[in-house]
Amino acid sequence: MSAVPSFEMHLFVRTEAENASDVRRLELPQSPSFLSFDKARVPEFTSASPASGREIGLLEPVDTAFGPRLLFLVSRAFGRGLRLNGQPLPRVALLRDGDRIAAPGGRSFGVALFRRPSVGPAGAPLSGRECPVCRTALAESTSVFRCPCGAAIHLDAAGENPAAEALECARLASECPICTRAIVLEAGYASDPER
Ligand SMILES: [Zn+2]
Ligand SMILES: [Zn+2]
Repeated sequence: MSAVPSFEMHLFVRTEAENASDVRRLELPQSPSFLSFDKARVPEFTSASPASGREIGLLEPVDTAFGPRLLFLVSRAFGRGLRLNGQPLPRVALLRDGDRIAAPGGRSFGVALFRRPSVGPAGAPLSGRECPVCRTALAESTSVFRCPCGAAIHLDAAGENPAAEALECARLASECPICTRAIVLEAGYASDPER
């Protein structure tokens, strides 16, 4: 079964000037993307390789066994002088929520994990499958939470038969019994992205 994308990685670009700091959000596409400076030296994402001298690196959101990460291949030209959480940045880094990359000249990039839970009716494809929390079969009209591992967990079973007891397994369990990922039902940032 194919995985359900349930998270996005965002970059918050902070520019420190003398008396003020400006924070701008860059939404990262779900596919590998180039991060580069545009003509005004403002960072942007592009799908095509940027002009020489403007490239910052190649980034790709990846779902690892340790959780969502952001793969960052740093360009040779840009790599000098960058620091990740105060340490020299390697050419290849797996960034996590809360990481901050500081560049010379007062600009920094904060990595923020945005979780977007997949919730909806089970529908025909999931009908009859077993909820891994309560081990009962899912009805077609049941609202379910889809874990990125593919598991479908009851969120509300009262849809088709209001007399039936609503099963809210996703609210009762804190993590998926199959893959142990945390069950998050509200869309939002894992931590304060503008800290
Ligand atoms: Zn259940
Ligand atoms: Zn799971």
